[in-house]
Amino acid sequence: MSEEPASPRAAAPPVLELREVHVAYGAIEALKGVDLEVREGEVVTLLGANGAGKTTTLQAISGLLRPRRGEIRFHGERVDGLPPHEVVRLGIGHSPEGRRVFPLMTVLENLRMGAYRFRGGARREDLDRVFTLFPVLAERRTQEAGTLSGGEQQMLAIGRALMTRPVLLLLDEPSMGLAPLIVTQIFTIIREINEQGTTVLLVEQNAAQALKLADRGYVLETGSIVMSDAASALLSSSRIRAAYLGEGAAE
Ligand code: ATP
Repeated sequence: MSEEPASPRAAAPPVLELREVHVAYGAIEALKGVDLEVREGEVVTLLGANGAGKTTTLQAISGLLRPRRGEIRFHGERVDGLPPHEVVRLGIGHSPEGRRVFPLMTVLENLRMGAYRFRGGARREDLDRVFTLFPVLAERRTQEAGTLSGGEQQMLAIGRALMTRPVLLLLDEPSMGLAPLIVTQIFTIIREINEQGTTVLLVEQNAAQALKLADRGYVLETGSIVMSDAASALLSSSRIRAAYLGEGAAE
């Protein structure tokens, strides 16, 4: 592991800190003491094989799961144990694995659901931001979400999370099940979201794409972080290349 600053952003204050986080499903220990940090303005990627604990990590951050031990801090304040709506209110948006859009609601209704925390409902400027990032959602605003393509549903899930005005955006496998061209498009938009000032924690199995986008990365294996480094260093590491960028890895 390298302690060298990965980029100027590595010197920024931490937005999110996980310390020794343990999460279990009954007797199954899914996270066995995870330490992780995301600094202001960064894109950090969390890589790992199926079942490594990536989704569990994001669910613990967003309050959907309560850690058995350890601490999760957002801007220095403990958030573990808070209910999910409180975590959203503090500025953590979550685009979940498998997208989970409301299929019988229209695109616009899904986006408005994202803004439920605001008393006055969805704000014009937030909708405009989402429609500028994802013009196809503007075109399909009255279409039922269940009839969208997989890529469009992914865009909607990210858009819905952006409607909460997150400081930190958690993205759970946005590339899952999508064609390479759509994946490239979505990663380009994630970069744009980051450049607009949103810090990003990106869970991915598509290590090649994720590491090209990210400032830093962590590798999770069976509930433990086994590597962390600058994304460029991970991209050239022989261990990562063998385990995650082997033959058939999407470029
Ligand atoms: P994937 O990419 O397949 O989603 P992941 O890295 O996100 O994998 P998790 O979904 O976080 O992994 O799962 C971590 C471990 O916890 C796995 O061993 C999984 O079988 C187990 N697990 C996840 N959800 C539950 C649950 N609801 N009940 C019991 N065990 C679970």
